[in-house]
Amino acid sequence: MNLRIGTGYDLHLLTEGRPLMLGGVEIPSGKGEAGHSDGDVLIHAIVDALLGSVAAGDIGTHFPDTDPKWKDTSSTLFLEETTELLSNRGFTPVNIDCTVILEHPRLKPHIRAIRNNLARIMGMNPKRISVKATTQEGTGAIGHGEAIACQAIVLVEKIQQHGSES
Ligand code: MG
Repeated sequence: MNLRIGTGYDLHLLTEGRPLMLGGVEIPSGKGEAGHSDGDVLIHAIVDALLGSVAAGDIGTHFPDTDPKWKDTSSTLFLEETTELLSNRGFTPVNIDCTVILEHPRLKPHIRAIRNNLARIMGMNPKRISVKATTQEGTGAIGHGEAIACQAIVLVEKIQQHGSES
C-alpha cells in the first residue's frame, strides 16, 4: 500500500492590527490571526496533516513557537519545508481538502487565489486542492469573531522507494 492519510486542525485568536493570512494570501479584514508566526491557520492545518500522514510529529515539533527564528515568519516557509520533508521520504501529496471556520469575512471571492497559491507552494495541480469555508452560526468564540479555525485532510502517495518509511 503506497497511500497514507493525515489530518490537521488549528485555531488562532483574531486580533486587530494583524493581517488575516490564509494559504499565504492576505485577506482584507479588520482582524488577523494572533500568533508567533503569521498565524496562517490554513497552512498550519495542512502542515499538520502532511506531517501526520507520514507520522513525522506535528508543527510544534518542527517549528516551535519558542524559537525566535519563527517569530512573525511567513507560514509559507513551514509548508515549503514540510513538502520537502515528505519528498525526502519519497512521498507526494495526492489531494488535500480543507475547511476554514470563521464568521467574517466571506472567503468565496478569495478561494481561487488561495488554492492557486497553495498549489504553487507545494508544486501541485490546484484542482487537487479543495478549500471550503463555513461559519459557526454566531455561536462560541469563532461565531463572535474572536477566533478562526481550520481542518485539513490529505492523501499522500509513495513515489520512491527510499527513506526510512516502508
Ligand atoms: Mg497555528
